[in-house]
Amino acid sequence: MIITSIYLLCAVLFILALRGLSAIRSASRGNTLAIIGISIAILATFAKFSFNTKTLLTLGVISVGSIIGYLIANKVKMKDLPQLIAAFHSLIGLVAVCTDATILARHSEIIEFSQKIEIALGVAIGAITFSGSLVAFLKLQGITKNSFIKHINVINIFMCITLLISILLFFVFTNILTFGTIILLATMFGYSMIIPIGGADMPVIVSMLNSYSGWATAGIGFTTNSQLLIITGALVGTSGAILSYIMCKGMNRKLTQVVLVGFQQNQHVVNSAHKTTENVKLCNTEDVSYMIENASSIVVVPGYGMAVAQAQHAVKDLIDKLFTRNVTVKFAIHPVAGRMPGHMNVLLAEANISDDYVYELDDINNEFSATDIVIVVGANDITNPSAKDDPTSPIYGMPILEVWKAKTVIVIKRSLNAGYAGIDNPLFYKPNTLMLLGDAKKVLNDIVKFL
Ligand code: NDP
Repeated sequence: MIITSIYLLCAVLFILALRGLSAIRSASRGNTLAIIGISIAILATFAKFSFNTKTLLTLGVISVGSIIGYLIANKVKMKDLPQLIAAFHSLIGLVAVCTDATILARHSEIIEFSQKIEIALGVAIGAITFSGSLVAFLKLQGITKNSFIKHINVINIFMCITLLISILLFFVFTNILTFGTIILLATMFGYSMIIPIGGADMPVIVSMLNSYSGWATAGIGFTTNSQLLIITGALVGTSGAILSYIMCKGMNRKLTQVVLVGFQQNQHVVNSAHKTTENVKLCNTEDVSYMIENASSIVVVPGYGMAVAQAQHAVKDLIDKLFTRNVTVKFAIHPVAGRMPGHMNVLLAEANISDDYVYELDDINNEFSATDIVIVVGANDITNPSAKDDPTSPIYGMPILEVWKAKTVIVIKRSLNAGYAGIDNPLFYKPNTLMLLGDAKKVLNDIVKFL
């Protein structure tokens, strides 16, 4: 009874943590609440058992895991966080598979039908989460490229049907063979589902896998009869699903489109080796400094390149200079800028840029036409006009920041290379666009010095 009440308290702490994490200002508090909740839950769980070699071994494993987690979290660069999250999700999937395997090995003779359902679904979701997240990690890390696989949708439907059949077989013949078949097919299904997905759809997939890892956790909760794991898993599963929905809405896509259409190779994919600067207007830091000095309103659009260059502090130095000259400065944040939801908000917060200046896509798009200068710092896909006016583009329909409506657009990046979606960006060739080629941090520092 006491332990159940403590678990309930932990569940409340997790809900408050999620609430805190929904806004930059309260995110740190949310994190602290989650850490407190998890610590209490672990202690309460240990209090249930008497102290013996098993508890000692478990404590040892938790300690080693915590140290490894601490070291990784301290070492990881902000830009690599999405792949780290994907890698951690894959571990949750693996845990679900291992837990179900242990339960089956111990109690195969006395398993009830309801438990068979829990085990079969838990292990299937776990294995899909494991291989799917692993593929997402390899792709985000740049180790594996998007692959175009012929008839992938037919293959996926076939995989899904055979997986369902293997689950039904497990209900009838509950043994290691049918169990192993579920693991094998679900692992292959996770791989074939994620490998063709790329371009602008990747963020949705990361958040969908986040949701799967939650359901895998809830599955472990059912099999081990742990209410806390069921609640925690359901919270993660639901919030991941809601985030996927919000992102799909933000990109004007349907989840079925994301999962079924996959990565399409087409004529838009840029061969960056052949890109020349012939048809663009180039400028240098001196030109830009003069222009900035005469502007009265500036919007900064940060993108993945700002994270790569770690240019957020240079951006802060620049806007501090602009504020002393009474220039109005705003930041425009696209929901999928960077490589994870909220990536840019985290970087700006790290550089102590107040979120009073930060605007979401819907709030800023109407303001570009009244803006003197837009400075695009390492962003590409999120400013691509093809999403609006080219129905054949892979990103057609995705809401974007309509930066070209400003009087002048200055794009800071190192080359004319494509961004994550691998497609050309007509913004670079617009008459009011100036390209300032170079590393974002270096270029911005030069401008600040000049000002
Ligand atoms: P993009 O990936 O479209 O473009 C980033 C640009 O940054 C590149 O074109 C690159 O050009 C430039 N860049 C790289 N390094 C530097 C540097 N040191 N200095 C200056 N520029 C640099 O980023 P966006 O933020 O515009 O768009 C995000 C993309 O990532 C979308 O397609 C989105 O779907 C996808 N995505 C988003 C996720 C999310 O959750 N936010 C998750 C996974 C994918 P160059 O090489 O010429 O310098």
